[in-house]
Amino acid sequence: MAALLLSACTSVPQRSPLATWSPSPNHDARQAQLIVLHHTQMASFDDALRTLKSANDQGRVSAHYLVAEDGRVEQLVDERARAWHAGAGRWGVLTDLNDASIGIELDNDGSEPFADVQIDALIRLLDDLCTRLAIPRTAVIAHADLAPTRKADPSAHFPWSRLAAAGFGEWPRAGAPPAPEGFDPVLALALLGYDVSDLPAAVAAFRRRFRGVASDRPPRSTPAADAEAVAPVVFDDDDRRALFDLQQQRLGR
Ligand SMILES: [Zn+2]
Repeated sequence: MAALLLSACTSVPQRSPLATWSPSPNHDARQAQLIVLHHTQMASFDDALRTLKSANDQGRVSAHYLVAEDGRVEQLVDERARAWHAGAGRWGVLTDLNDASIGIELDNDGSEPFADVQIDALIRLLDDLCTRLAIPRTAVIAHADLAPTRKADPSAHFPWSRLAAAGFGEWPRAGAPPAPEGFDPVLALALLGYDVSDLPAAVAAFRRRFRGVASDRPPRSTPAADAEAVAPVVFDDDDRRALFDLQQQRLGR
């Protein structure tokens, strides 16, 4: 209780001294619109917890939740507050992703499979969040989806198909037909939400997420110099089939 009072005292007042307070009951809380998943890329849960609660060399980071390998779930930030997990990025029309999302970190060093009990716990947490906060169950994305030039998490080990089987995130349907002649996969990527201004990065994020293709898309070093060297993206039949089906599902909603 003391801690609660203390934090209440240190928060910024939410009413202007320039106005008369004349409250209306016609309002509700601002709401997150999507959930962003990360892996911690750290050796241990305790290291990750410490990092998410401290002022680090390269700046402060946090997340609303941290899910341990054994399925334990810690909540670090109130859901109504912005946790600092997304950084610069874009997903569809959203450009302030910390503002628009709940961030969940999964304890994983980035090179190992995710434990089944950890994914079970994540699925229970997603169910709870989507129910309580009225977030669409399809609105669960990877950190790399919103920042494909900077981030590659969660890794290709992450079981998106298990999440999809539990009803979370977008996922191509089994047995979806091939994409028709004239289908534009770049437009479909953009429709899903990807920033396609660096197309190779967007496609690497798409393939990691939807096809389990590992790639460390490195932070962009010298974009101007690299621009010439980057080979043009070639979409194969499986890319096109998945993108076409995801587009059809999105347009059908
Ligand atoms: Zn991340």
